[in-house]
Amino acid sequence: MLFSELGLGPDVLRAIEDKGYTQPTPIQEQAIPCVLQRRDVLGCAQTGTGKTASFTLPMIDILASGRARARMPRSLILEPTRELAAQVSESFETYGKHHKLSMALLIGGETFTEQVKKLDRGVDVLIATPGRLIDLFERGNIMLNDIKVFVIDEADRMLDMGFIPDIERIVSKLPKNRQTLFFSATMPPEIRRLADAFLSDPMEISVAPPASPAETVTQAMVLVHEMDKRKALRHLLQTEDVKNAFIFCNRKRDIAVLQKSLERHGFNVGALHGDMVQSKRTETLERFKQGEISLLVCSDVAARGIDVQGLSHVFNFDVPLTPDDYVHRIGRTGRAGNKGRAFMLATPDDTKLVGAIARLIKREIPMIAIDGLETAEFGEEDSSSRGRGRGRGGRAVKSEARPPRGGREDRAPREERAVREDRPPREERAVREERPVREERPVREERAARDDRPVREERQPRESLAAAEARRGNDPRRDRDRDRDRRRRRDEDDDDVPVIGFGDHMPAFMLRSARPRPSAESSTEQSQEG
Ligand code: AMP
Repeated sequence: MLFSELGLGPDVLRAIEDKGYTQPTPIQEQAIPCVLQRRDVLGCAQTGTGKTASFTLPMIDILASGRARARMPRSLILEPTRELAAQVSESFETYGKHHKLSMALLIGGETFTEQVKKLDRGVDVLIATPGRLIDLFERGNIMLNDIKVFVIDEADRMLDMGFIPDIERIVSKLPKNRQTLFFSATMPPEIRRLADAFLSDPMEISVAPPASPAETVTQAMVLVHEMDKRKALRHLLQTEDVKNAFIFCNRKRDIAVLQKSLERHGFNVGALHGDMVQSKRTETLERFKQGEISLLVCSDVAARGIDVQGLSHVFNFDVPLTPDDYVHRIGRTGRAGNKGRAFMLATPDDTKLVGAIARLIKREIPMIAIDGLETAEFGEEDSSSRGRGRGRGGRAVKSEARPPRGGREDRAPREERAVREDRPPREERAVREERPVREERPVREERAARDDRPVREERQPRESLAAAEARRGNDPRRDRDRDRDRRRRRDEDDDDVPVIGFGDHMPAFMLRSARPRPSAESSTEQSQEG
């Protein structure tokens, strides 16, 4: 099929030709005629399918007639992240270059002033993240009762990010007689219910089974011990023909640690995560797109929809916590018919998560070995956890950082651990116990990077002393640790002085002879004077 058969106007067709597209993708083929007929659409499409153009192209045609009034946008597109919103606005610029549509991008992290000025002038297309839109609505800067076309993109991501209540609020302000286009990569029951509530007799379009990775992506997995992950990653980066790559971590603070480690090994690497200020996020992404940075260590903020032309590789430094995220992460490569390669570093602790991914994508990810690195086995105890339990001189120390007795099955689910690990005491203790570590051991790098305190914003607020004491008092494990530390300190000092109330230290005033006690009268006098 040709674009010219879809019913699009000549100016849009010209822009498509300028862009170099020769054929519509399957979602474009199905969605564009429906949108032009002003029908609601429920689209289940994975990223990289050409979904953005499937709604932007017909919207440009629809909005070509008519004029925007001040503060009353004529169409609204909601995106879960600022990067996606910015990307959709770029699409409007590309495909709408022969039109005179005005557009505003309302995203957090940027000043209100410019955004408000634009709204005041009147906009045809408003692209927004839900939080910023609600802020502006509440300040009275915007009215939503002239919205003719409403798009919810990446609805399942909105659900994951907790935006659904915001979206319900926004929808309650929209006129009833609007056209709604609803896109989601997956269609879990909550999303289906939401679609039922927002759409009226929609045309349902599904271009790929939910959450199936593109066939153009070659996948592989390396099973290593936790402490070998960085080495394994470096090996892959050196042996693969990496032009540019996203390296996904599950936690923001690990991003900084890994970035520093890679920098020290001479890689050209940047970082991208949701706690960075927006200007820095935009600048980093732009430098990556321009090829000034070739590796980007990132969180899932980069997993959905971010479109970097010809990304050669995706590395999952951590196994994602949900299998859907795996599909989204690796979907950054192998886009628009290009080939891509995706590698995942898994540890024995990731057995369940890897199983969930295999069930979702309906196949096992092929395993590869890395020269010089021991391949771990699923279900075994991770030797790095054993390593973390080593005390001074390499003596094995019974540590709380090790899995509790009863084996792996007794451990808290990984998600829970990840959340807990944002409160670092356990992990920090484990790292501390590893002191002194041999030069080449990776934990040393981690500690060095941590000492730089790279992600300040992640530090926890200080706990009040009373709260800390109360918690300590209730935590027998902490008492055990403290006793053990004391015992060890005593062993090391070869000092057998008993601890009396003040720890190992005897304050000087305790050694002075006591003064005679004052008589009963003089003490009464003193208190009256006071
Ligand atoms: P999307 O799924 O909207 O993120 O699009 C993925 C990529 O496909 C983007 O880089 C688009 O520029 C590209 N693309 C969209 N439509 C076409 C098409 N008809 N032919 C070739 N590439 C396309």
